[in-house]
Amino acid sequence: MSLSEHRHKKALGQHFLADTEVVERIIRAIDPKPGERLVEIGPGAGAMTFPLLRRHGALTVIEFDRDLIAPLRAAAEGVGALEIVHRDVLQVDLTALAGEGRIRLVGNLPYNISSPILFHALEHAGSIIDMHFMLQKEVVDRMAAAPGGKDYGRLSVMLQAYCRVEALFVVPPDAFRPPPKVDSAIVRVLPRAAGEIAVVDRARFAAVVKAAFGQRRKTLRNALSGVADAAAMQAVGIDPGARAEQLAVADFVRLANSLDADGT
Ligand code: SAM
Repeated sequence: MSLSEHRHKKALGQHFLADTEVVERIIRAIDPKPGERLVEIGPGAGAMTFPLLRRHGALTVIEFDRDLIAPLRAAAEGVGALEIVHRDVLQVDLTALAGEGRIRLVGNLPYNISSPILFHALEHAGSIIDMHFMLQKEVVDRMAAAPGGKDYGRLSVMLQAYCRVEALFVVPPDAFRPPPKVDSAIVRVLPRAAGEIAVVDRARFAAVVKAAFGQRRKTLRNALSGVADAAAMQAVGIDPGARAEQLAVADFVRLANSLDADGT
């Protein structure tokens, strides 16, 4: 079977890009430079893969759908060096894949597992130069949100503590076959250098952020009970009567860094 005959699998979030102008715009945003190692998650029928391969000469793709592997390999012949990793991306050790160097991650992600993929990539952030992903617009809004609004939450704080996040542009449903029900958007995620990350204990930081937004209508005093006591908040200049959405990312980092294991 060829790539054009492939039947979309809903369970794998298969919405394939059909708008070549959008593809060009994404590639301009990525702006690959000679010698860089590009890794695409979920090439599908290759809407981004082949334009990238033609321009860059070499590309690694990670695809889970076994029906796409042989057709992708066949279509790459004579175009460029396509390395295909046939696996669930969540099982791929991106650090090992990067080897000694660092990779640039790109992909029009399967929306049903976009957050797990983001957090998986974060675990390998030391091996990643940057990421350019197509996601549901609503997810991109949450990733890039500033304090104070409804979009600002656990995803915003967890990501922004470790990365710079830049929402680039919106892509409407009619750019895809079949069209998804929602708008999509391209986001650029730049992992911060190790020296720029202020979080001391990642697990404690994650626990504070989770508890704070787990009950986001409550004051921090109540939402964080059992995680951080009011005196600990006051000691780092945080009002226990405030709500999680009012705190900057740096406030969460300062609070988590100041805590002992018992929340004091
Ligand atoms: N890049 C293509 C495009 O833009 O037309 C396809 C994008 S489609 C939204 C998502 C792709 O991710 C599909 O090819 C799907 O098979 C693949 N995929 C889904 N789950 C995956 C997983 N766990 N690991 C790797 N690839 C996956």
